[in-house]
Amino acid sequence: MAYAEEEDTPLATAAAAAVYVRRGLKGTFTKPKSTRIITIVNQKGGVGKTTTAVNLAAAMGLAGLKVLVIDLDPQGNASTAFGIDHYEDASGSFDVLLDGASIASMMTKAQGFDSLWVLPATLDLAGADIELITTVAEGKRPFLLKTALSQFLDDHEMDYIFIDCPPSLGLLTINALAAVKEVLIPIQCEFYALEGVQQLLRTIEFVKERINPELEVSTILLTMYNSTTNLSASVVEEVRGYFGKKVLVTVIPRSTYVAEAPSFGQSVMTYDPGSTGAVAYLAAAREITERKVKG
Ligand code: ATP
Ligand code: MG
Repeated sequence: MAYAEEEDTPLATAAAAAVYVRRGLKGTFTKPKSTRIITIVNQKGGVGKTTTAVNLAAAMGLAGLKVLVIDLDPQGNASTAFGIDHYEDASGSFDVLLDGASIASMMTKAQGFDSLWVLPATLDLAGADIELITTVAEGKRPFLLKTALSQFLDDHEMDYIFIDCPPSLGLLTINALAAVKEVLIPIQCEFYALEGVQQLLRTIEFVKERINPELEVSTILLTMYNSTTNLSASVVEEVRGYFGKKVLVTVIPRSTYVAEAPSFGQSVMTYDPGSTGAVAYLAAAREITERKVKG
């Protein structure tokens, strides 16, 4: 099994893991040949999209890769997790999508990282769908993020860009799907885990046919695994049966440190690097960097 069974690792192991993460990770992850942009999507709420975006990015950032997290959720949870303000007047992804601002001018360095940036979300993003419909020509609406990203990548180097989506399949999510080749779907290890996944896959297929022929579901990540129930194990089996090799070997366990970290404006990678959640996200991030990508 690629995940730890216990909530608390023994102190010495945790301390060693913490030192390893802080000092020893630099240069240990493979850099991609070109920027990999990954949209993290699931219209079901609370399945671990944001936690996954934040912690994969943090793990890669600690390893010295250049990473950008784009927060496309008006709730701004990814922004909060990196200690970034997202009050109403703050700037961020709304300005990029609706005012044509550049990503570079709106992104903020994440606290405690040398090579990790965040394009924050603000509350005004909640009205973005309506504003886009009333102010932007229909044909342009799905491509606002894609256009901004290609301008950004003309003169900025990034290894990974993660896009955190809101729990809906509205225009923000469509923009996120139009802008990438890769989709990562987090699936929570609980009853009804696959509920809604069919609808999500249909939406992805629709976007692939009409808007973005390069789009693929590249990665499935099982989240919030509870080793004390048979239910989690049977969900893992069901999801692996359905998605096969797209499912990462690493499974993310349920861990209180993962849930606590955002309230301290941190990822679990920095909040408690020795916790089972941090160790698992580190392993998941490494797996992603080591997998073969199409094209
Ligand atoms: P939304 O759809 O609202 O954007 P989401 O899919 O982004 O939600 P998260 O916010 O990442 O989901 O997670 C939902 C809740 O579960 C959060 O309170 C988070 O802290 C908690 N959580 C996520 N992963 C874990 C984990 N591995 N262990 C414990 N709690 C977790
Ligand atoms: Mg979220």
